Amino acid sequence: MRKLGISFVLALVAVLSTVQTPAQCGAPITLVKAGRFLDPRTGNVLAPAAVLVEDGKIKEVGSPSQLQAHAPAGVKTIDLGSATLLPGLIDSHTHLLMDIVLQAEAERARHLNGGYVPAQLLAIVESPGKRVLLGAQMAREDLESGITTVRNLGHSGIDGDTELRDAINAGRVPGPRILASGRKLETHGETYVQNLNPALADAILQQEFLLFDGPDSARQAVRQNVFHNVDVIKVTAEENLTVPELAAAIEEAHRNHLKVAVHAVDKTSIQTAIDAGADSIEHGNDITDEQLKQMRDKGMFFDFTPTSYGHFFTKVFEGTIAESLVLRAKRLEADQRNRQLFNDLAQQVLKSEFVDGSDVSDDQLYNSLVQRVLKSGVKFAAGTDMDWHYLGKTRGQASVGRFLTLHEAGMPSLDVIRATTTNAAEMLGWQDRVGAIEPGRFADLVAVAGDPLADITELERVRFVMKNGEVVKNDFAPH
Ligand SMILES: [Zn+2]
Repeated sequence: MRKLGISFVLALVAVLSTVQTPAQCGAPITLVKAGRFLDPRTGNVLAPAAVLVEDGKIKEVGSPSQLQAHAPAGVKTIDLGSATLLPGLIDSHTHLLMDIVLQAEAERARHLNGGYVPAQLLAIVESPGKRVLLGAQMAREDLESGITTVRNLGHSGIDGDTELRDAINAGRVPGPRILASGRKLETHGETYVQNLNPALADAILQQEFLLFDGPDSARQAVRQNVFHNVDVIKVTAEENLTVPELAAAIEEAHRNHLKVAVHAVDKTSIQTAIDAGADSIEHGNDITDEQLKQMRDKGMFFDFTPTSYGHFFTKVFEGTIAESLVLRAKRLEADQRNRQLFNDLAQQVLKSEFVDGSDVSDDQLYNSLVQRVLKSGVKFAAGTDMDWHYLGKTRGQASVGRFLTLHEAGMPSLDVIRATTTNAAEMLGWQDRVGAIEPGRFADLVAVAGDPLADITELERVRFVMKNGEVVKNDFAPH
């Protein structure tokens, strides 16, 4: 009996001593090594590089030998070989709870509901539960492509994005860090949902928007969002929005320590946003040089959203045609010849490059916009405004593809990376948390095989993702 007791104690001691390795006792520590580390802030490259991660945060950045010496013996090490490390990407403008299937032009024309042609309208009347689960999928897909932080600017029902944020933070579902705006504020304008059944219209609109009239109701709308614990306020500026109304919303948001992102596309709305003191202007397509100068002087951010660039909507629409052809082929199971025909047609559509006139992209406008913003010295970041179903791509792949169009439009690679890391973090007010691989920030890292400065499309092939010190994916690991 006594002998048995001693061996039990010895076994217990053995178990306890294995448990008390540095990685498991107290804060977990990981050493990440890579061939290179690109610092977006300076453009400098450290080679070789290492990052010491402790308790989900970056503790130290330096050479592998230096950090190895500072790390506890037997520290968990992730060796990424010759890969290039970067901060996790930030999408400053997205809509995770929408995945709209673009419909044919004829359908859009027949069912015009302001800017809410039937596809968007269908998206917002769906069950909130269904939408939030869709959002969970989009969030996971973003994270897998290296997007470790997003700012979700509306179209989430009443609390879909705040709930998704909390579920991710609680570890229930994987996804990026989310700054959630709740419902977006807007006036009764011309471009959003119209011509609905009057008996249902208010219920539908209130599910998606906080409609206000006058400064007092603008303040009240901000407070409603504060009640739902949002991280940011989104306001859509149309030409009928007044400066006092927007200024009231902004003052109320700032009182609650929230930044205000203002959707403004035309010159009048952009001027309203500037005069009322917005923190960022979203889209800003028609901005003048004089307005860029005003933004620069006030320290406002310009948030590029090159969503339509490169005939994007044509490709998205072609995808829906191809998808329906493939579905048709599936139904023709007994008819081998016709099935082949429809499958071939689908392939042809996917390969084609036709522009059907419904494509609203204006590449020339964007090429000049990129040059003018860079020249103006205004602070800028980038978002995707992604809410479209893109056949054959995950949400993350489609989103990163949008960032790359900034380079096609003339933005140097380093600025594209800044727009989606350091600059974006500052615009979000999270410069002490994300956007750079620096001590004290969350350990949100990505790695690509090549040199993203030489080939920015490397960002489309993110092979390693770490969020909060935890590995999300590592294609460099030996299989
Ligand atoms: Zn948007």
